[in-house]
Amino acid sequence: MEVSATILLYFDDPELYQSSATVLDIRENEDGATQFILDQTIFYPQGGGQPFDLGTIQTENSVFEIESVRFADGCVLHNGKFVGGSMGVDEVVDLKIHIERRILNARNHTAGHLIDTAMANCNFNFTPTKGYHFPDSPYVEYEGMIEADDREDAVEKLDAELARLISTGGKVESLVVDSYSDLKDYCKYVPTYVPKDKPVRVVTVAGLGCPCGGTHIGEISDLISVKVSKIKSKSGNVRIGYRVEG
Ligand SMILES: [Zn+2]
Repeated sequence: MEVSATILLYFDDPELYQSSATVLDIRENEDGATQFILDQTIFYPQGGGQPFDLGTIQTENSVFEIESVRFADGCVLHNGKFVGGSMGVDEVVDLKIHIERRILNARNHTAGHLIDTAMANCNFNFTPTKGYHFPDSPYVEYEGMIEADDREDAVEKLDAELARLISTGGKVESLVVDSYSDLKDYCKYVPTYVPKDKPVRVVTVAGLGCPCGGTHIGEISDLISVKVSKIKSKSGNVRIGYRVEG
């Protein structure tokens, strides 16, 4: 069945933890799990280094527990199992997010942006190449090199800048730009993986814009404390490991 692209409610309101949607399709995925496609969703599908959301799709008599959320062909795919009752196409359902998990992921992800800003402010002018914002050991990678002898100093400088940015605070802002060429007006670095043929959302954290489709917290000072845990450099890449406390 052909279904239209899912409306991403988390784009405009990352703090929307509960909403409703209409079921467009229910099918079996390649792993044998049940898969829901909805007209709109609050669930973040894994991507951009951020884990997927968990939660439930519910009606008065039925509960579907989400086990993973993915994105393909413009659609958000909600995979999981019924823990009670059943639902059908065209039914209006309630969506509920696992709030603690979402907030943890949004904090770790936002902290990754703050590392980008701290790097630029400390004159490490490297292009970001990869972000991993999972809670186990998050990091951001850049094209560049920090020599072994300079790493202790770099950690100290970055930690001081992160603390300053958090105490200064400010809103995390986002806007959608219509064309790839407009990105340069907002972003110091444009990663190569950014699509060139469709509108892109730009997220600005403490003055530095970055193309990004993830979820973020609203206020930088709510991060409380972000510290660099480790700097590694290998084959022209530098990896900044970090931890978010508080
Ligand atoms: Zn982001």
